[in-house]
Amino acid sequence: MGAELETAEPESQPRTFGMMVELFHGGDVVVLSGAGLSTESGIPDYRGPSGLARRGQPMTYQAFTGSAAARQRYWARSHLGWRHIGQAVPNRGHHAVAELGRRGLLDGIITQNVDGLHQAAGAADVTELHGSLHRVMCLACGQRTARTDLHRRLAAANPGWDAGPALINPDGDAVLADDATASFRVVDCLACGGVLKPDVVFFGENVPRPRVEACYAMVERARSLVVLGSSLTVMSGFRYVRHAAKVPVPVVIVNQGVTRGDAYAAATVDAPLGQVLTDLVTALP
Ligand SMILES: [Zn+2]
Repeated sequence: MGAELETAEPESQPRTFGMMVELFHGGDVVVLSGAGLSTESGIPDYRGPSGLARRGQPMTYQAFTGSAAARQRYWARSHLGWRHIGQAVPNRGHHAVAELGRRGLLDGIITQNVDGLHQAAGAADVTELHGSLHRVMCLACGQRTARTDLHRRLAAANPGWDAGPALINPDGDAVLADDATASFRVVDCLACGGVLKPDVVFFGENVPRPRVEACYAMVERARSLVVLGSSLTVMSGFRYVRHAAKVPVPVVIVNQGVTRGDAYAAATVDAPLGQVLTDLVTALP
């Protein structure tokens, strides 16, 4: 399959764009979206074309569950990060995807993003592969609650706490000096007093198996798989591209910069997501 398109000259893009229009026109498309779709909403993509490394080390599941000090650091940083992520609004790329859904062209959306912006744009049938920062779960009783509620509780428990401006990561984590986190007060589950964790898949943690299998089944039923804004660095998303190519279900990748899945793609479009998706909606009958 068109591996030669990987290094295609820019003039070949109308052809690959045309292929994408044809695939969407045929319907039954499954979308796999990543951080590149949310950059136009002001959420940084640390694996994007800028090539900038992530700011600071991500929290691992083992560190989070194993140490109260690690949880204090995490929640202090995340409390700051939420001011940024929680206020982000969907961009024209998210709105275009929602419109494709309303036109009945999508079989489902698998997103690696934890920002909730597909749903905020009105999209249905969204599977959040890595969970959502908009929810919090209790590790003891399993109850899920809204992040906005936790944000209010953390703000109330930490009056006057302000670590100043911080660098924000796309997973809602922020970089703070340790002395700024040492005074931060963490709150526990209101129902049982258990430890609260954002309802996202941490590094060192697996995507729940039923969710993984449901996405494999979705890809197998699809007429095509279209990747939007992911370099497919993380195996949790990349495996669906590999699987689609094996079935085979044609894969189109729209991303700024090369991706790990390019060799599996029937076509690649290297362009800003918001513009391409808006053009796509316009080009469809
Ligand atoms: Zn609980």
